[in-house]
Amino acid sequence: MILQNTGTVTPELRVLGAVQLPAFLIDADFPAVIDAGMSCMADRYVREIREALNGGPPARLFLTHTHYDHIGAAAGIKKAFPEMEICCSEAGCEVLKRPRAIETIRELNRDGAGYMEKMGEPVSGSLEFETFTVDHPISDGDTFPLSAGMHLHAIATPGHTRDAMSFYVPEKKMLFTGEAAGVMSDTGYIFSEWLADYNDYYASLQKLGALEIDILCLGHGGVLTGRDAKNHIDRAMEYCRWFRQLIESTLAETGGDVEQAKQHIKEKEYDPIPDPKQPEMAYLLNLDAKIRAVQRLDQQN
Ligand SMILES: [Zn+2]
Repeated sequence: MILQNTGTVTPELRVLGAVQLPAFLIDADFPAVIDAGMSCMADRYVREIREALNGGPPARLFLTHTHYDHIGAAAGIKKAFPEMEICCSEAGCEVLKRPRAIETIRELNRDGAGYMEKMGEPVSGSLEFETFTVDHPISDGDTFPLSAGMHLHAIATPGHTRDAMSFYVPEKKMLFTGEAAGVMSDTGYIFSEWLADYNDYYASLQKLGALEIDILCLGHGGVLTGRDAKNHIDRAMEYCRWFRQLIESTLAETGGDVEQAKQHIKEKEYDPIPDPKQPEMAYLLNLDAKIRAVQRLDQQN
């Protein structure tokens, strides 16, 4: 099943905020929040966490990567629950030390608030991104307790970004991928998201494909359960290979001209997809990174 609403999925899992911009809550003895969307969503996440946990604090917030739309509300959630530990990959901690990265995250959060309003999502509180301290840098293989007999494992899944981490609860076969497993649109199409490196992205998909998955929480667009969850990683790999080929054939047509290739690919991939979808500017920026990653790869070969 493909669930595209917020609220309760299973007794221990809730989708907070908005489907396109979710945070996930695992209700357990040590409750965990996964991802923190955009700054303009902080009030909503906090309210919904309080409702779910009867006011109590989450033990930890896990960040899948340090893009603006996954860490925007981290400071706001921390302010509401000061005892909560923020956990992020070591590579992510490095990104958060770079003033230029912080500036970009701030600008994109301001723009993003307008986008959410356009999508009909209520935004409230401060729209400004605030920096935060990572309490617990995490590495591949780290394990955190949730409840007796339920744990959360950190799995390094680079490729979308270098700092990307997925989180897996083996006892529930529940996986949180951020963008490591692509972004699914309402039509079922999966956008491949290798912004940093194609081979790393594909290898990360292979790693995720080896897991047993019953509940798959995507960074954007919904929660997949049962057969849809099981099939998603294979489908994401198919789209990944297909999209690489599309980039290669388009570059061959344009004689290696990236700007022209971008326009051709946008017409084929992005234009036919109905809203809600990523804003065009962000799509083109990401597409640029994906095309250049393929070019680098083909130059190496
Ligand atoms: Zn994202």
